[in-house]
Amino acid sequence: VKVPFVDLTAQYLSIKEEIDREIGNVLMESAFIRGKYVEKFEKEFGMLHGDLGCLSCASGTDALYISLKALDVGIGDEVITTAMSWISTSQTISQTGAQPVFIDVDPRYFTIDPGQIEEKITENTKAIIPVHLYGQPADMTAILKIANKYGIYVLEDCAQAHFSRYRKDVVGSMGIAGTFSFYPGKNLGAYGDAGAIISGDLDFLSRARMFANHGSLNKHKHEIEGINSRMDGIQAAILSTKLKHIENWTVRRIALSENYRELLSQSVNVKLPLVRQNCRHVFHLFVIRSTNRDILIKKLRARGIACQIHYPVALPFLKPYKNMDHKPEEFPVAHRIQSEILSLPLYPELTPDMQQYVAECVNECDF
Ligand SMILES: *Cc1c(COP(=O)(O)O)cnc(C)c1O
Repeated sequence: VKVPFVDLTAQYLSIKEEIDREIGNVLMESAFIRGKYVEKFEKEFGMLHGDLGCLSCASGTDALYISLKALDVGIGDEVITTAMSWISTSQTISQTGAQPVFIDVDPRYFTIDPGQIEEKITENTKAIIPVHLYGQPADMTAILKIANKYGIYVLEDCAQAHFSRYRKDVVGSMGIAGTFSFYPGKNLGAYGDAGAIISGDLDFLSRARMFANHGSLNKHKHEIEGINSRMDGIQAAILSTKLKHIENWTVRRIALSENYRELLSQSVNVKLPLVRQNCRHVFHLFVIRSTNRDILIKKLRARGIACQIHYPVALPFLKPYKNMDHKPEEFPVAHRIQSEILSLPLYPELTPDMQQYVAECVNECDF
C-alpha cells in the first residue's frame, strides 16, 4: 500500500469537468492577467469573509510582503511573530528592512504564546504576525488585546487556515488584514502559485493594490516604486471553481481528524493534536508528536506512507537568523517540538482504507 502525503490528481479528477470548462473559458477569452476571472474571485473570496475587500497576488509570501509594505513597515521597525512557521512569515519582515522578533509557541497548540509578547514590545514594534498554524487559529483575543493596548497592527498569516474560525470569527477578519496562500497543496490550492490579502480597511487595501501593481493604481501614473505581483486568470478561475467545494473538503478534513483521533487513541507514545475550545481547526496538517519521531518516520516511510515534518527547524534556529544568536532556552517549546512533530497524510481524498493502514502502522511502531 502506498499513501501519498497529498493527492492533487485525485482531487482534480473529482472536479475535472468543471475545471476543464473554466480553464477553456479563460483561454477563449485570453483573460490571462487580472481581468474578469480575477475580479470575480476577489469578490467571492472577500464575500466569504464577511464582505471584506480582497486583493489577489502572486503567492502567500507576496501577500505578507505587500501587506507589510502597505502598513509602511520598514527600516528601524520591529515585527513580532511566532517561532514556528514557514520561513515566508519572517523573511518578508526582513525584506522590508524591519527586524523579526520571535516568540515561543504555546505548548498546547503550537501557535504564538501571547503571554510572552508584551515583554518583547518596544517603541519600534509596528506589528504582530500570528500564524494560524496547521489550520488552528491563534489565540486572537489575547493577541488583539495586547495590540490594541500598544497601538500596533495584527496581520494574520492564514496560509494554512482557509475558513478556520476563532470562536465566531473566520480567520483573516480579525486583524488589520489576513494573508492567504493558494499554493497547490494548501487547503484551497491553485494549479500554480497564487495568494490573496483580505481586509476591511479600504485605504490599506488600496495602498497594497498600488504597491503590488508597480506603484500605480492608474496605468502610467506611478506614485511609488512597487513590485509586480498578480494572480493569473487561469488560477482565479480554478480557485472560483474550487470555492464551491471548499466547505465540503473542510468538513471532510475535520471528520478525518476525528477518525485519526479514534484510531490512534491506544498509541501510548504518540501525542495527538489538541483543538482550541470553541474554534474550528481546519486540519491543513494533522501533526502528531513522538519522542521517537525519527525512528517512527523511517518505519512509516518504509511501509509506503509519505509523512513530513512541519518544521524540522524552528525559525529562530535557521541559518538566516544565526546573527541573532538565539539559544534553545529562549524557545524551549519550539526547540522541543521540532524534534517530536510529524505530519500524517490528511486530505479530503484520503480513503478510509488508507487512513486505517496509516493508523495501523503508527500503532505497530509505537514503543
Ligand atoms: C505556505 C505558507 C506561506 C507562503 O505561501 P506561498 O504561497 O508558498 O508563498 C506563508 N506562510 C505560511 C504559514 C505558509 O504555510
